[in-house]
Amino acid sequence: MKLKNKALLKKNSYIHGKWLHSKKEFPVTNPYNSDIIAQVTNHGKEETNQAIAAAAEAFKIWSKFSASKRSKILKNWRKLQLENLEDLATILTTEQGKPLAEARGEIKYGASFVEWFAAEALRVYGDVIPGHMANKRITVIKQAVGVVGAITPWNFPSAMISRKVAPALAAGCTVVIKPSELTPLSALALAQLAEEAGMPSGVFNVVCGTDAAAIGQEMCSNPELRKISFTGSTRVGKILLSQSADTIKKVSLELGGNAPFIVFDDADVDKAVEACISSKFRNAGQTCICTNRILVHKSIHDSFVEKLAIKIKALKVGSGLDVETEVGPMINTAAIKSVSALLENAIQEGANISEGGHLIKDQLFEPTLVVNATKDMDLFKKEIFGPIAAVYKFETEQEAIELANDTKYGLAAYFFGSDYRRIWRVSEALEYGMVGINTAMISTTLAPFGGVKESGFGREGSKYGMDEYLNIKYMAWDV
Ligand code: ADP
Repeated sequence: MKLKNKALLKKNSYIHGKWLHSKKEFPVTNPYNSDIIAQVTNHGKEETNQAIAAAAEAFKIWSKFSASKRSKILKNWRKLQLENLEDLATILTTEQGKPLAEARGEIKYGASFVEWFAAEALRVYGDVIPGHMANKRITVIKQAVGVVGAITPWNFPSAMISRKVAPALAAGCTVVIKPSELTPLSALALAQLAEEAGMPSGVFNVVCGTDAAAIGQEMCSNPELRKISFTGSTRVGKILLSQSADTIKKVSLELGGNAPFIVFDDADVDKAVEACISSKFRNAGQTCICTNRILVHKSIHDSFVEKLAIKIKALKVGSGLDVETEVGPMINTAAIKSVSALLENAIQEGANISEGGHLIKDQLFEPTLVVNATKDMDLFKKEIFGPIAAVYKFETEQEAIELANDTKYGLAAYFFGSDYRRIWRVSEALEYGMVGINTAMISTTLAPFGGVKESGFGREGSKYGMDEYLNIKYMAWDV
């Protein structure tokens, strides 16, 4: 890997300000060609326990810093992220596969959370409430919850960390991060920059390891850790939630999605096609807010499909490091197996493949268009997490809403149309945490990201994002 700043390529866990090695290691591979990029230290329960103890110790200092002192250190961290943008993007693409342009976008997106929460640290306001008796006064303050455990996925190996860590540190919490074992290098590079930014020992810890269950169990059961913030599958989210019950931890979960993308008959079809391509094929379809079910009104169905097919055919598939590439490899062979099974089931159930449908080589899968899809297919029910666009037909607004809500998930939904009354009606009727209206660009630090139903709870970004890391304390005064 060619890096300007070689110090960013770290291979050990970062605990209490030290890079901790172990003889046990695991390989991190490049999903494009399966080359081993690095052997990374394989830590588990014991080191997680050490990291939590270090974070608990550091909490006593960090939470007592003035907000402006924490804010300055966060700003340093952001500055270093942007100064090292190219190297961070190269590390990200090499271990994760997404095109470099998307990797750069992810680093900037992550840095925008650090910028926002560095400023928000200064605005953790309390309240003064009229007293309940003549001689009583009520005040409210907000305080950092304590040590935070952040468990993050491989599809956004950098931004999912910044998005959790920035508000946590701004609030005065300290963190123990467990990155995905598939993509730990981006997390370790962020740790190196956190150290350079002046974060005291123990404030920012990263435990790398393949025994996710043991690390997660230690985080959830350890009473010194007061909050779990998780992004990943609904399956693992449920495990963490139940494991956190014993110690009554604060929990936020950003889980799977099954995003509908509805195109009404009065939509700007070209604009909808454009948005559909970017929301479906970003990161080779491997994001929790990727379009999963394209619901198109029957009167415009054929023209929409025709235009979508042309764009899908034109997508350039290849190595993320190649500047031409628009769709990179899938993360591993299990992901390939999963999309292949979904396609097989759809064909058996009567759908047709109008573009793509094959594995090109290794982990590169053709961008695929499936038509005549129906709600009985697995494609409708499951999170596809791959480059497959499946189109369904509907006739009425009510039918579109029912189809859209016919899922256990409730993260992102999108729809295109121009009747403002319908826009308001549909926005209210969709059982989702986020709704894109004539746009699929919904991710920004300025807005609350999060879901409902089995997509989880808690919000990341915006003024709401800080509350996840704060406890409310009320003081009653006799005056
Ligand atoms: P994905 O399907 O996106 O890989 P996962 O939910 O499996 O989603 O993984 C997200 C994160 O959760 C990763 O860091 C992974 O190592 C971690 N993880 C997986 N299983 C567990 C578990 N039992 N307890 C805690 N963390 C886990």
